[in-house]
Amino acid sequence: MTCIFCKIVNKETSAEIVYENDKIVAFKDINPKALIHLLIIPKKHIPSLDHVEIKDKALMGELILTAQKIAREKRLKGYKLQINVGRQAGQIIDHLHLHLLSG
Ligand code: 5GP
Ligand code: ZN
Repeated sequence: MTCIFCKIVNKETSAEIVYENDKIVAFKDINPKALIHLLIIPKKHIPSLDHVEIKDKALMGELILTAQKIAREKRLKGYKLQINVGRQAGQIIDHLHLHLLSG
């Protein structure tokens, strides 16, 4: 297994995890581009949004609701969610992730 985010999921690599449940992990981005910069990922290895299938519909909803939950808990006044899809759009890690940026 060479995927760095799968290694974070499996606790083979450390990360500052801020939220976790049976399907999702959220952790601090190692190179933050805002005061708050978190990555919210499914535990399941999906290479990108382009690889999401209809059976992942509920999981995709849960990813976004996890962002909302974290934002509420942290009382963020405003935030952005970003998904980069493909190298041309700046995706460097091939494990689906939602950027949560604030501040
Ligand atoms: P992408 O450009 O693929 O949308 O975003 C990947 C993000 O993952 C980048 O913002 C980068 O800083 C972050 N990142 C890359 N490797 C690691 C790592 O090992 N740990 C953590 N916490 N973040 C990482
Ligand atoms: Zn992975």
